[in-house]
Amino acid sequence: MEKRIFNFNPGPATQPLSVLKKIQREFLDYENTGMSIIEISHRSKDFTKVLESAKSRVKRLYNLNNDWHVIFVPGGASLQFAMVPMNFLHGDNFGEYVNTGTWSSKAMEQAEIQNKNFRTAASSEDKDFSYIPKGFHVDSEAKYLHITTNNTIRGTQWNQIPDVKVPIIADMCSDILSRPIEMDKFGLIFAGIQKNIGPSGTAMILIRDDMLALVPDNIPTMLSYKTYVEKNSMHNTPSTFSIYCCELVLQWIEEEVGGLENLEAFNKKKAQCIYNKIDSSKGFYKGTAAVEDRSLMNVTFRLPDKNLEEKFVDLAFKKGLGGLKGYRSVGGIRASIYNAMPMEGTAALADFMDEFKKNNS
Ligand code: PMP
Repeated sequence: MEKRIFNFNPGPATQPLSVLKKIQREFLDYENTGMSIIEISHRSKDFTKVLESAKSRVKRLYNLNNDWHVIFVPGGASLQFAMVPMNFLHGDNFGEYVNTGTWSSKAMEQAEIQNKNFRTAASSEDKDFSYIPKGFHVDSEAKYLHITTNNTIRGTQWNQIPDVKVPIIADMCSDILSRPIEMDKFGLIFAGIQKNIGPSGTAMILIRDDMLALVPDNIPTMLSYKTYVEKNSMHNTPSTFSIYCCELVLQWIEEEVGGLENLEAFNKKKAQCIYNKIDSSKGFYKGTAAVEDRSLMNVTFRLPDKNLEEKFVDLAFKKGLGGLKGYRSVGGIRASIYNAMPMEGTAALADFMDEFKKNNS
């Protein structure tokens, strides 16, 4: 019997055990084909069925109508930082960005590198990215407003999607399919699938027709959203294994969890269990995010000093709680508790927090 830990890594991240087991079971002979899923043609009926099913599940889960397209693009989320301005900003057109940390900054950098026009609508840099800006103005002439719905490094999340007059483009890497969301506010959503919905290296993108209409014809083929929509994500050979894994995770969300409302309730319960320990620790554990902007996906906190933080991470690891070290540039502790983290995992971490505090304060 293999040994599995509670895996709090930020991504690649823990996946549903039943999905991993299914991948294992089916790996040598996919649905009586006599071949592995990684050995069959991307144009075969077996793989097409997988792709179509994944697309349909996403549309069902988010209640999307036919104005929306679901595509899979290689290059992870980072390529999306470049593709967004490349596809939507031309001439005097401009985009607006909210800077809530590293990933938003990287998105802006990619607009800048291409000499595209963009503005910073708001930023939380003044308080070390510990909160989500509110009440800012967005020019109605902007082609889009870019936000990062969940800030994986800082542990903040947009709990209220802003009302603006332009389509929102969202980096939803670390909270895609973790809760119901007001889809009519968005024009495009992208996410590397390695946190909530599968293996790394591929991004899933939801794009609405009116955004697609803004894409000119002179974009390099593999960098144009039009290619992926027109060729059903198969202009070249897509990452068939990643898409297959994603389909299984989506099946888990629909059939085992029962949809996004259930998932949100489950995610809230798990996050609350750790935030409660922070709030009742009399300052031993200090949350780094503003309380109203706390993330349900990445819980970030500090201990009284760096040595204790190192000790916490090491000791937790010895007890089967892995991946708790904060992002390299910010330090501290980060518990990534994506969809697939079981309740037992967050409960074990909460118990460990109690025990560690008792022995070290
Ligand atoms: N955006 C966010 C919010 C992220 O958390 C990450 C990865 N941690 C990225 C973008 C970059 O994703 P990728 O490594 O797939 O390019």
